Amino acid sequence: MPEEPQQEIENVRVVVRSRPIDKAELDANCANVLKIDKFNRSITVIKPNATANEPPKTYFFDNVFGEDSSQIDLYVDTARPIVDKVLEGYNGTIFAYGQTGTGKTYTMSGNSESPQTKGIIPNTFAHIFGHIAKAKDNQKFLVRVSYMEIYNEEVRDLLGKELNKNLEVKERADIGVYVKDLSGYVVHNADDLENIMKLGNKNRAVGATKMNVESSRSHAIFSITVESSELDETGEQHVKMGKLQLVDLAGSERQSKTQASGIRLKEATKINLSLSVLGNVISALVDGKSTHIPYRNSKLTRLLQDSLGGNSKTVMCATISPADMNYVETISTLRYASRAK
Ligand code: ADP
Ligand code: MG
Repeated sequence: MPEEPQQEIENVRVVVRSRPIDKAELDANCANVLKIDKFNRSITVIKPNATANEPPKTYFFDNVFGEDSSQIDLYVDTARPIVDKVLEGYNGTIFAYGQTGTGKTYTMSGNSESPQTKGIIPNTFAHIFGHIAKAKDNQKFLVRVSYMEIYNEEVRDLLGKELNKNLEVKERADIGVYVKDLSGYVVHNADDLENIMKLGNKNRAVGATKMNVESSRSHAIFSITVESSELDETGEQHVKMGKLQLVDLAGSERQSKTQASGIRLKEATKINLSLSVLGNVISALVDGKSTHIPYRNSKLTRLLQDSLGGNSKTVMCATISPADMNYVETISTLRYASRAK
């Protein structure tokens, strides 16, 4: 990627991406209800069979991406500025939020068939190791990763030996909130890191099947810590540490659709709760006037606390479907995303 002068970015940015209409939607003769205006960075949604007093709704964001947006366009706009900050020693978080089937995993991980379809996570690896390859002789880097999921407010290691073990969330004065026994790996190049991501993604799916649940019901958190140390002319060592959290959130769809009951309903309630706590935390951070940020109200926000707020940079990428059959969920996603601003 070409070097460009770095711009100062806002602490919280919200972007929206629509995927192309898919086969099932085409087969169902779905109409496209979205008008995406790149120039005004807005998305207008037309209600199917709207009456005269139901005008289209328009929502504005920091950026909008239509069905023809490339993975690299999205990376350059949303992730690259944050990764640059992480390389300077700041923390950052990138979320994919949206209804199941709208492209969260495509946006975060991508398909591995071709380089063009790689998502934010593998593009991040290339960026980080590209930066390290250009480092000066007096600069050394250490890259460490971990990958976990939160399902039903329980934390699981996606890279560990025991996939179904429920890990404890702890807190220590010196290091803050952490997951006890979570495995961490030191990684030396982008290919190794990509293989680790794939293993974790596979484990996410396998673990879900074993428990007879949908993997779309869990939040997956890929954490990359970049530590750098630099010797200055006087021989003094300067150490910096930045952490990047890449989060593929659980599907945001309401549960009435699937008529959840029993365990499913309990699970759905927990997902809805953690997504609404996340929305509350982000809007409190954007608002800037809140003295209390409700991090502790869910495992997700508790674990991400040191990468949300303060000097950290956050991007929420909300994903939507263009089809009329998903109108209700699309509006709900756009409302959630606008509230985060
Ligand atoms: P989610 O993780 O939100 O449930 P996925 O990422 O699995 O959704 O996407 C559902 C399907 O749509 C996948 O087959 C994926 O490859 C495809 N898809 C999603 N977003 C895009 C996009 N922007 N361009 C092309 N295909 C996409
Ligand atoms: Mg997914």
